[in-house]
Amino acid sequence: MNIRLLILTLFFSFIVSAVIALEPIPDKLVVLTFDDSVKSHFTHVRPILKKYGFGATFFITEGFDFETNKEHYMTWDEIVQLHRDGFEIGNHTKDHMKIKPEKPEALAQLKEQLEAINLRCKEHGIPRPTSFAYPGNGIDPAAVPILKEQGIVFARRGGAPEYPYKDGQGFAYEPGLDHPLLIPSACDARPFWKLSDFKQGADQAEFGRIAVLQFHGVPDLAHPWVHTPVERFEEYMSYLAKNGFKVIAMRDLALYVDPEIIPNVPNFVIEDRKKSIASGTSRDDFRKPRDEEEFKYW
Ligand SMILES: [Zn+2]
Repeated sequence: MNIRLLILTLFFSFIVSAVIALEPIPDKLVVLTFDDSVKSHFTHVRPILKKYGFGATFFITEGFDFETNKEHYMTWDEIVQLHRDGFEIGNHTKDHMKIKPEKPEALAQLKEQLEAINLRCKEHGIPRPTSFAYPGNGIDPAAVPILKEQGIVFARRGGAPEYPYKDGQGFAYEPGLDHPLLIPSACDARPFWKLSDFKQGADQAEFGRIAVLQFHGVPDLAHPWVHTPVERFEEYMSYLAKNGFKVIAMRDLALYVDPEIIPNVPNFVIEDRKKSIASGTSRDDFRKPRDEEEFKYW
């Protein structure tokens, strides 16, 4: 092999390995997600995220009264602007039909519900979404192959079934244990929350876990049960910025996680978490290194 060829070969093998090598998951890695195409995502959330330089995913649906109520829901021009700003546009289905095993008609329509949003994105020059959020946080394992076939790489659910829906609590994503198409929300903001409730979600982002944080409108006049006041949201984002969190969109998980690695039994980690809630233990209750010296041998 002549020297020029050798240099070229080394150069390209470096490029290839740089492209496919995953980065180690740092502590304080969080994903910000906003559901339901709410107007305040454009008017209030966008400037705050831009101020901090945070990434985020906006999950778009044309459900509720999106078509007619432009006081409470974004226009497609505003959604396009979010995409141009560098934020990710994710798929939240056309009509926001909740998927659940006891309601097979919603599952039967999932493919066309996804395709309708894909088409609207295409019409507006937005890339085909690769991230998905389950409408109403309803899940059915039978949805997973449909999402995969539609090119969805990462899909987010709520904090249920581990926690009940009402308080918005959840668990951080544990890559390898959680299926990438059933990623739990570490928290799902509620109107009565204080900073301590938000921290309970965000602070789980350590030991290889990633906290996926779920929001609706800031404010949310159309969905008051998941409303977040603007001052509170500013407080949450300021907490992330001051404490050195890395804030990314859902698609950026691909930098850290191989979505082809899936658990044999996706429900195993869910059942394990339910057991830890019942016994009052935490996912942090494992033996940690005693000091820096011991940490070297881990
Ligand atoms: Zn929704």
